[in-house]
Amino acid sequence: MSETNWEPIKVRFCEHKQCEVALEVQAVYPPEVLPDQAPRITGHRCSLGISCNMDSPSCVWSGTNPTFDPFLEK
Ligand code: SF4
Repeated sequence: MSETNWEPIKVRFCEHKQCEVALEVQAVYPPEVLPDQAPRITGHRCSLGISCNMDSPSCVWSGTNPTFDPFLEK
């Protein structure tokens, strides 16, 4: 049976939430009968994106401001 996990790939300080947040990928690992296959990436999210969605417009990962992506900043 395949296994699905949300895994962090990048951590940033978020000015909007005033804390560290992670950009996460949803990785689907193949079942044990196919051990040599790489995991498939089926989604991306911010670790606090759901709670951010409830307040003022913030960034692309909360779905409220498509012009700002804090994970693209250096
Ligand atoms: S969704 Fe955007 S604004 Fe909200 S915590 Fe994540 S990075 Fe910060």
